[in-house]
Amino acid sequence: MPEYAYQSVAIIGGGPAGLMAAEILAQNGHSVIVYEAKPSLARKFLRAGIGGLNITHSEDYALFCTRYGPEQARLQIILDHFPPLTLRAWLESLGVSTFAGSSGKVFPEGMKAAPLLRLWIQRLRGLGVQFRLRHRWQGWNADGSVRFDTPNGSIKARPRAVLLALGGGSWPQLGSDAAWVPWLREKSIQVTPLQSANCGFEVAWSEHLRERHAGAQLKPVTMRLTDQQGNTSQRRGELIISQYGVEGNLIYHYSRSLREMIKTEGSATFTLDLAPDRTEQQILAALRHPRGKRSLSSHLKTRLNLSGIRTALLWETLGKAAGDDLTRLAQQIKALPITVTAPRPLAEAISTAGGVHLDELDERLMLKSLPGVFLAGEMLDWEAPTGGYLLTACLAQGRWAGAGVQAWLEQQL
Ligand SMILES: Cc1cc2nc3c(=O)[nH]c(=O)nc-3n(C[C@H](O)[C@H](O)[C@H](O)COP(=O)(O)OP(=O)(O)OC[C@H]3O[C@@H](n4cnc5c(N)ncnc54)[C@H](O)[C@@H]3O)c2cc1C
Repeated sequence: MPEYAYQSVAIIGGGPAGLMAAEILAQNGHSVIVYEAKPSLARKFLRAGIGGLNITHSEDYALFCTRYGPEQARLQIILDHFPPLTLRAWLESLGVSTFAGSSGKVFPEGMKAAPLLRLWIQRLRGLGVQFRLRHRWQGWNADGSVRFDTPNGSIKARPRAVLLALGGGSWPQLGSDAAWVPWLREKSIQVTPLQSANCGFEVAWSEHLRERHAGAQLKPVTMRLTDQQGNTSQRRGELIISQYGVEGNLIYHYSRSLREMIKTEGSATFTLDLAPDRTEQQILAALRHPRGKRSLSSHLKTRLNLSGIRTALLWETLGKAAGDDLTRLAQQIKALPITVTAPRPLAEAISTAGGVHLDELDERLMLKSLPGVFLAGEMLDWEAPTGGYLLTACLAQGRWAGAGVQAWLEQQL
């Protein structure tokens, strides 16, 4: 088996975390080779740019950090060195200006990932970073070298340090297929099972609702959830009814709590406020308004502007007797219960929960039990909602782990 790369640092995985690590190391004079399984770099990053690349968020930094939930304390040390404003300055340094939308989400000018990626790869090439595409890492050989499958057969490399940035398990067609999980477990590294994050959830809709309303959008709507700790929170936004259940930004936001509740209780119930701009009293007064010969549907439409998927959801829950008890109907309009029974499969999720347990890593993101092997990005056990939090953390970790490699190599001299 041919052997290469004695003097280089190997970055394995050419997504945002890996590319950022490559930048830091190359800027500091290291010879860097990025190994990528796919024929091109950062396919998920490019895919993320299709609906508008939400690269970070402009909200107050203290609030920003809370989005990482229980992992906040561990991640904040890393984020502090590459907070959203610094990330935006880094984009500017590439020649890409950014703007914050009305929701506070930050996008590159033009919203796309491709122009940014082009400029970034140009910079990396200028720094001397080498790319080995179609090189699929296959774990370690018995002699400690790393093994790759390439179009020309297997090769092994014995780099000065290895930085794994292999991503999670969602959208495996884009490259991050989580094949690394057993190879790390074989090395006795604790890997929390990978699960769907920022994903849709299944609901046992009636045939009628599925056939007539799949694809319908509820916007604005307010979702309210009481989590397992008894904390109730609510959020206004968008929810989409799908063939299998529910998806959309609101659902993604609550996906962690919903998933955890399903795990322990078998299902999770949240409520929707279908008329978030009216009080229950106002709704009840409108419902009690004489409706003459008009149907209840038409009454809801004219007095409360409720129609389409909103009334379909009411009939789905209350049945045709919905109009018999107006007090109950008003309550349900303000708090319609929806029960979800399972998250959608990981392959469909926007991101991954689970991954290499953070306790396996030292403060530089080096595996405690495998000196010289560093990790960054979505393959680590943390999660965050959509809103730019995922990319910010991946980029910040890539930077931090790259600096960690640099510090470790200096110690080895
Ligand atoms: C549809 C979609 C939309 C998204 N939109 C946003 C958004 O707007 N904002 C946001 O913050 N986040 C978004 N995300 C999430 C974001 O793209 C990811 O969190 C981020 O790309 C993870 O970066 P990473 O570098 O850790 O891993 P990845 O981007 O997954 O990169 C890992 C790389 O490693 C390579 N690889 C894997 N295994 C091997 C192997 N054995 N050998 C060699 N190479 C290997 C893969 O091919 C891949 O190129 C979105 C995700 C999806 C799917």
